[in-house]
Amino acid sequence: MEVTCRCGWTTRGSKADIIATVQEHGRSAHQQEITPAEVRAIWRMADAPGPGRAGRTSGMDAAKK
Ligand SMILES: [Zn+2]
Repeated sequence: MEVTCRCGWTTRGSKADIIATVQEHGRSAHQQEITPAEVRAIWRMADAPGPGRAGRTSGMDAAKK
């Protein structure tokens, strides 16, 4: 599981880890409280193959499929 914030910041880990980490990032980087539902909306976008992700590659993700 991997999430990319709209600012370009990325985190990965289990779902529970990501919710906690993204909420912390929202507070420290955007002065914004992010709900778990919003985190899920973000990670679905980041996980879906689509035109939005082009150009960002990470070779270590090969095993994820
Ligand atoms: Zn951000």
